[in-house]
Amino acid sequence: MLTKENIEEILNNFNDPLLNLSFSELGFINSYSINGDKLKLNLSVSDVDNNILQKLSEDIGKKIISTHPEISEINIDFNSGVVEHIDKKKSSVLPNIKNTIAIASGKGGVGKSTVAVNIAVSLTKLGFKVGLIDADIYGPSIPTMFNIKEKPKITQVSGKNKLIPVTKYGVEIMSIGFLIEGNNAVVWRGPMASSALKQFMGEVVWGNLDFLLFDMPPGTGDIQLTLSQTIPLTGAVIVTTPQEISLIDAKKGYSMFEKVNVPTLGIVENMSYYSLPDGTQDFIFGKDGGLEMCKELGLNLLGQIPINKTIREGGDSGMPVAEFIPDSIESKSYLNIAKTIVKEVNFRNIKSNKKPELEINI
Ligand code: ADP
Repeated sequence: MLTKENIEEILNNFNDPLLNLSFSELGFINSYSINGDKLKLNLSVSDVDNNILQKLSEDIGKKIISTHPEISEINIDFNSGVVEHIDKKKSSVLPNIKNTIAIASGKGGVGKSTVAVNIAVSLTKLGFKVGLIDADIYGPSIPTMFNIKEKPKITQVSGKNKLIPVTKYGVEIMSIGFLIEGNNAVVWRGPMASSALKQFMGEVVWGNLDFLLFDMPPGTGDIQLTLSQTIPLTGAVIVTTPQEISLIDAKKGYSMFEKVNVPTLGIVENMSYYSLPDGTQDFIFGKDGGLEMCKELGLNLLGQIPINKTIREGGDSGMPVAEFIPDSIESKSYLNIAKTIVKEVNFRNIKSNKKPELEINI
């Protein structure tokens, strides 16, 4: 009879192709069921080529059948998996959240919130549980971009009032925009804004999330510092246009994250080009500025997103392209960005979670 232990033992000999650690070690065995001579397995995997997964599935199948002849048919489902960023401080503030990522920019208006929304939706398409905090306290645009009119409900946890995030398109969302009336401006001093952000972490009942994204205010101010001091972020994604004026501030953003030990997972170059009807591209804000920045600083270019009406309309109507036009080039770019973020997070967490071996010299 095939037991859980047998499965774990066998899967100790098979590695996630990208991370080079076994499925057992990674905790990537999600579930299994046996029905007569049929075994169904559900494994997580870092995103890899279908051919590689097919071969892996066959090899695991052969191994199980050769050691357990009572099984004659095996069906393996793979879904994307992410490794948790293990940190004591994070577990005390956000106990059920595996990874926290800041979506940042040096300048306002470069499309940071739009990118944050579409990455959040794309991550849910990959099967992840995702939350989004609108930390752009002074200019919250997430309620509009998700077309959310309702307010978060209040619940009691251990005698204390807590907020329940609003869920839309599979994303759990919290924004200061939910709590202020109409077009009222938020006039807050830095410390008040920082304390609002802390409340969004501690006084909101988040589900068990693989990723909590923070749509940061532009620049390098109090909120950025509060965030990196309150919880160790898994990483930051910096959004810039290819234009020099945006790149200068994006580089400042990058160096701020470096100073507070938050790794930059990569750069998203937004508004990279405009596709003309004759099929050529117009590089309105210059060509490849984000790519050059990546080369200069040794960073990943996560993607180059065109400027077009579809993206803008998706933002204004609260119907993000990643959700509503999944076959578009734009949505595919966002999906690729999301996949690369997952890979980067996995690599970094594997590295940083591993404690150094104890060296014994006698
Ligand atoms: P930020 O968060 O950097 O201030 P937003 O995401 O709010 O920027 O975007 C600013 C404006 O630009 C919004 O109207 C948005 O719809 C639009 N926008 C963002 N990215 C694109 C794009 N790739 N193509 C067209 N419009 C875009």
